[in-house]
Amino acid sequence: MPGMMDTVLNVGLNDITVQGLIAQTNNPRFAYDAYRRLIMMYADVVMEKAEGIVPKNGKGIRKILDERLEEVKKQKGYTSDVELTATDLKELVAEFKQIVKNVLGKPFPEKAIDQLWGGIGAVFMSWNGKRAVEYRRIERIPDEWGTAVNVQSMVFGNMGNDSATGVAFTRNPGSGENKFYGEYLVNAQGEDVVAGIRTPAPLNEYSKNDQSKHLPSLAEKMPRIYKELDVIQRRLEKHYKDMQDIEFTIERGTLYMLQCRVGKRNGVSAVRMAMEMFKEKLIDTETAIMRVAPNQLVELLLPMIDPKAELSTAAVAKGLPAGPGGAKGRAVFTSEDAVAWANKGEQVILVREETSPEDVDGMHKAQAILTSKGGMTSHAALVARGWGKCCIVGCGDIEIGSDNKSFRTKNGEVIREGEWISLNGTKGLVYKGSLPLVDVDLEHNKSYTELMKLVEKTKKLGVRTNADTPKDAAKAVQFGAEGIGLFRTEHMFYGEGSDKPLFLLRKMIMSKTVEERRRALAELSVFVKNDIKATLKVMNGLPVTIRLLDPPLHEFVPHSADRLAALGKELGVDRNELQKRAEALRENNPMLGHRGVRLGVTFPEISEMQVRAILEAAGELQKEGKKANPEIMVPVTCTAAELQHQRAIVDRVYKETCAKLGLKKIPYLYGTMIEIPRAALTAAKMAETAEFFSFGTNDLTQMSFGFSRDDIGGFLPDYLTQKILPADPFQTVDQDAVGELISFGIDRGRSTRPNLKVGICGEHGGDPDSVKFCHRVGMNYVSCSPFRVPIARLAAAQAVIDEKRAAYGKKSVAKKAVKKSAVKKAAAKKTGAKKAGAKKTKAVKSVKKAPAKKKGVKKTSGRKK
Ligand code: PEP
Ligand code: MG
Repeated sequence: MPGMMDTVLNVGLNDITVQGLIAQTNNPRFAYDAYRRLIMMYADVVMEKAEGIVPKNGKGIRKILDERLEEVKKQKGYTSDVELTATDLKELVAEFKQIVKNVLGKPFPEKAIDQLWGGIGAVFMSWNGKRAVEYRRIERIPDEWGTAVNVQSMVFGNMGNDSATGVAFTRNPGSGENKFYGEYLVNAQGEDVVAGIRTPAPLNEYSKNDQSKHLPSLAEKMPRIYKELDVIQRRLEKHYKDMQDIEFTIERGTLYMLQCRVGKRNGVSAVRMAMEMFKEKLIDTETAIMRVAPNQLVELLLPMIDPKAELSTAAVAKGLPAGPGGAKGRAVFTSEDAVAWANKGEQVILVREETSPEDVDGMHKAQAILTSKGGMTSHAALVARGWGKCCIVGCGDIEIGSDNKSFRTKNGEVIREGEWISLNGTKGLVYKGSLPLVDVDLEHNKSYTELMKLVEKTKKLGVRTNADTPKDAAKAVQFGAEGIGLFRTEHMFYGEGSDKPLFLLRKMIMSKTVEERRRALAELSVFVKNDIKATLKVMNGLPVTIRLLDPPLHEFVPHSADRLAALGKELGVDRNELQKRAEALRENNPMLGHRGVRLGVTFPEISEMQVRAILEAAGELQKEGKKANPEIMVPVTCTAAELQHQRAIVDRVYKETCAKLGLKKIPYLYGTMIEIPRAALTAAKMAETAEFFSFGTNDLTQMSFGFSRDDIGGFLPDYLTQKILPADPFQTVDQDAVGELISFGIDRGRSTRPNLKVGICGEHGGDPDSVKFCHRVGMNYVSCSPFRVPIARLAAAQAVIDEKRAAYGKKSVAKKAVKKSAVKKAAAKKTGAKKAGAKKTKAVKSVKKAPAKKKGVKKTSGRKK
């Protein structure tokens, strides 16, 4: 946890011991410098923070003491801390103690033992400090792990110009390049390097940057020590087999190593280091795969805000990171404005409270989307992620003005229409102004390509994509998708080129009689078939799961007067009649209303048209000598009878299509989404008709929790901060309940149909933890948006390694238990019959325990097909 927990240096100094340090070193300036540092750090960490004291006016004791130090420097005309004399520092020590007493109401403790216990207690307390808690939340480190405290004897980098302190990395953490990289400061203690009071000097030529190029490097200034450090850093990396973050101090010409730990790195360098270390034979295949966190791959796929610019800019708001990458643009507040501005060549970011399908054009034209409401599976999040577009949702830190022309941040900053903002969609951060973006070049990233080759050889789970257009599908295939796991038919009615099919769909919806509807469907079917055919063609024989129409029809009813008028004219009905028909479609709870398979039951002709379009598209491709592999998927089912109802339509249309095209066979599968708990619980029956299941975990989560996926933003933050939920269940599968339904559904489904194909197509399909879960429960594939395909592939490979390691760990626990009991048995024999009997019972118990644990391993892997 770099920089997340507290440290107190120079513990033990007081008015008496400081004299000892002076006698030992013959350096009063150094001794009083160390003493004043102790008072500053101790007052801050132990006496204020650990005591939970909230500073008045936000100005803590550290700041007050820092300001006093600056004042003294100013009075004396010094520009740097090192110019302070022993007398200055001695006076400051006395003054600091007085300030501490006045501000905190308690004296700085003189006794060394009191300082030591105070320091130990404060470091323990810092585990629960705000920074550490937030960091654990992001990194998903369990709170209950707790911390240890190190007590170390001091070496001093502030003993003069032959002393120094520094931080180094065995490889460049920014680029991954295998070059020793770091910074140091002469006559200083570690905190000075971090605090930025003085510009640190470069370790070597390679570490020089614009700010430090004029400063002498350690290699130039202390060549002997640099050489020694270089030998040690090589040895450390070889020993730990990973890039090390090293802290060192030089005390009067002697090098001391303070600590080393595995160094943090960004995604680009993580991939490069993993593959270079693999090629150097420092690590094996499995270690290389495990070295990269799946989500880090996002940084390789999307443009991002230049990390350097981001470091020096403060975010004005924070929301949920729905669509990764970086983007910048002028703020606009309506979809229409986004389109109009973009058409004039402007880069825009669409800022809305939330989005709806009517906003799709504007969303598409915008560089990124920012919404103040909504969760990770809200409309904006789904659409943006599908496009690989940067998006932040549920950003409660912003409030959109009543004029819908500006937004105000929590800190009172107002951003008006046309002003530049920049988004970091990977972290959910909003910045004012136009920050530079840096591009990525995946195809030429050799390390990435090589890593993915190892991934491919290791993973067992298939990875498909959720794609609705040939362009998205092609992109996903480039990223390694092995098929389409969800083709949402309705997406052809949104966005570019959708005017005509949407009009025909609306005509169909507003039809009153079956004949009217059939006529509209016949016109619409041409568009549907072409759309499906184009995607099947791009996928060239890879499986494509096409979902029948899912949303409630009323979602497509036009709102604008001119669109209603055009529709009325086409249908030959007046405005009143049209309004009546639209009104009749309105539902109180559309997500639980007339949608999915229910549409196909009420209007079988709608299913018929879609099934015909799918089979004809596949059959025609076959006749053109191309490969097509469609899978017809029925959404929102809750009973096997619905599946049988739709199956009858499919069977009839299949026969008719084969006859029409003169084909003996058109390959296809018929299956269903499992997104209602009842469907999971009746999976055995569902699998009698369904040849595949695809778990729709967006709806399955919504219906299991009873949380509306579009409104979760209003209460989820409270659930997370108060730890009522460990994570957003719409992002990571809730393994306790939703996971149980999935696991139960797979088991039951395969009890009827052992070769039942099972996948997942909810948003969880691209979440690394959920992918690992899908592997463990024996799914055949996961499906996610194109830009998450590489993430899912890597997570799938890691799942295999995790499983192998867990099985190995359990085996060795069992072996140890057997060995232990054998030793005990032998001992028992030695100590006589009676005692031996008693010990035998204990030993038998521990042997029994081991197979019980093993059973757990078997159970999960048993589901794997
Ligand atoms: C789901 O419910 O998980 C799903 C993929 O369907 P949609 O998000 O379109 O409701
Ligand atoms: Mg659904």
